[in-house]
Amino acid sequence: DSGTSSTSSASGSGTGSASSGAAGGGFAADSLIGVALPQKTSENWVLAEQLFKDGLASAGFKADVQFANGGVGEQQNQIQSMVTKGAKVIVVGAIDGSQLGTQLKAAADSGAKVIAYDRLVKNTPAVDYYVAYDNFKVGVLQGNALLEGMAKKKANGPYNIELFAGSPDDANAKVFFDGAMSVLQPKIDDGTLKVTSGQVKFEQAVTQGWKAENAQKRMDTLVSANYSSGTALDGVLSPNDTLARAVITSVKAAGLPVPVVTGQDSEVESVKSIMAGEQYSTINKDTRNLVKATIEMVQALQKGTEPTVNDTKSYDNGVKVVPANLLEPVIVTKENAAEAYANDPTLEPLTK
Ligand code: BGC
Repeated sequence: DSGTSSTSSASGSGTGSASSGAAGGGFAADSLIGVALPQKTSENWVLAEQLFKDGLASAGFKADVQFANGGVGEQQNQIQSMVTKGAKVIVVGAIDGSQLGTQLKAAADSGAKVIAYDRLVKNTPAVDYYVAYDNFKVGVLQGNALLEGMAKKKANGPYNIELFAGSPDDANAKVFFDGAMSVLQPKIDDGTLKVTSGQVKFEQAVTQGWKAENAQKRMDTLVSANYSSGTALDGVLSPNDTLARAVITSVKAAGLPVPVVTGQDSEVESVKSIMAGEQYSTINKDTRNLVKATIEMVQALQKGTEPTVNDTKSYDNGVKVVPANLLEPVIVTKENAAEAYANDPTLEPLTK
């Protein structure tokens, strides 16, 4: 009876891992687990691939880990194929969180559990859990970093800024933006911040496909329309590192000083840029921990126990509130980079 499974956590305390059996009695320890990753729009996804392959194998599972660089249709086919092959859990990093209803229904009908990974899956009852870094908190940290970085350069406002958001098909993009605007909007209202272009709405700030070239093009246009005759640009809200570097490339090409630019993901090139004093901040969302938390969910489901969740109210996907395990993101600037990456063998040497 797939229709009534997995809802018991909503009435519980929301934490812990009670073995109520509500997860449906488990499945064989060497079962197939499908992992459907999106396009390689940032390093975190590339890192996730190998971590899932290694982590699932060492936990004793068979793993089918796929990227969908060709887009939504390819991801739909991959998930359908995981269902056909008998996957017991399908982990989904959605390209477009609202386009997977048919395939995930097929998964649920086959008895498989579905875990939304990093990005929420929308408008379907066929998603059992969500595991991600706290997306709203990411935005709040970005908004605070932008204010702090600008105040270091110039004690008092008004500050001229521009706003960038991620791809509108990714459910995270709006949440990052809302988190940042929860900090920035009051400062826009009181005149501390001025969005020179007037483009303050999410719809105006989006970057299709999280593509660097789209952000760079928009920044080129914003610069030539608003900052080419002496108006200073103090800061840019960028939702991730790839787009931050695109913004920096654009302002440098226009011959402007580099403003305070935020980011996310701790990509190698951005950590280098931060240490060199260009990009101001990034966010550490250690992919190793996110994959580990996901595999722990899979292991709980395998045993027939209820996975650990710590949030049973924030992630309403339009049809249900998806129980979530949210991890804590960490803001990183030049000042705390060495400490933040102390246990990361790739990033730590860059902070020297
Ligand atoms: C992830 C971000 C990433 C973006 C683009 C989002 O869903 O949460 O970490 O920067 O996708 O790949």
